[in-house]
Amino acid sequence: MRHWARRIRPGGFPGPSLISGLTLTTTRPSSDSSAFKAQLAQAQNIVILTGAGVSAESGIPTFRGPGGLWRTYQATDLATPQAFQRDPSLVWEFYHYRRELMATKAPNPAHRALAQFETQCEGQGRSCRVITQNIDGLHQAAGSQDVLELHGALFRVRCTACGVETANHDSPICPALHGRGQPDAHRSEPPIPVASLPRCVDCGGLLRPAVVWFGENLNPEVFRRAHQAVDECDLCLVVGTSALVYPAALFAPGVAARGAEVAEFNIEPTASTSDYGFYFEGPCGQTLPPLLLG
Ligand SMILES: [Zn+2]
Repeated sequence: MRHWARRIRPGGFPGPSLISGLTLTTTRPSSDSSAFKAQLAQAQNIVILTGAGVSAESGIPTFRGPGGLWRTYQATDLATPQAFQRDPSLVWEFYHYRRELMATKAPNPAHRALAQFETQCEGQGRSCRVITQNIDGLHQAAGSQDVLELHGALFRVRCTACGVETANHDSPICPALHGRGQPDAHRSEPPIPVASLPRCVDCGGLLRPAVVWFGENLNPEVFRRAHQAVDECDLCLVVGTSALVYPAALFAPGVAARGAEVAEFNIEPTASTSDYGFYFEGPCGQTLPPLLLG
């Protein structure tokens, strides 16, 4: 069993001045709702790191792990610049499928609670920012305004020739992709000619999904803003992500290390959970709403 020492928090004790510097060995973070709500009420700059777990509760597939295939491929086979160069038709079919699938999905109670909480914070002059690894846009669909998408967005495209990036919600994104992209493993149609794949309205260049693929760097401006938000926050919520995945892995442990509070909401504990002050286990659609809005 892993033990660690951390500072006692004020809740339940006479006062911070009497306990400063005191350490205590415990075996797990607190799941005390009242203590968490007290921290939440005090926080002025809240950062919320969200990941695949939040999307999964809306039925969004992650294309990772067992059963996570599209045709015979995992995301790691298709979400790379090399795959797009080799077979842009195949990669576009994969993203077209994912875009079309979104029409059948909706934000879940976790997305809605975060959006509602942001509105509350705004009214109180507090800052609440979502930093997400998810590309599905469900935070914005739920009403969140302040969202940094570390890995880009399913409904944005970027021109491979002129670099212009735009929002794009067209369905289908181009006529040639109509009816394509079915996940059936046995389907084999001839590739769509590159000229018929999504093209830039400005220069005619081939468009690609504006997502960060494996082996690519994050958008430096998005990363800078995320880093700044994390550096300035006094409370960090880790929601539906193990926070073991780079780059989120960089963020939460750093917040905890400088003594700011971190609370994790996950279906199971992770290697980092024991570094955090709070841990609430279960689907975040169930755990978050009463704690943020109750
Ligand atoms: Zn262009």
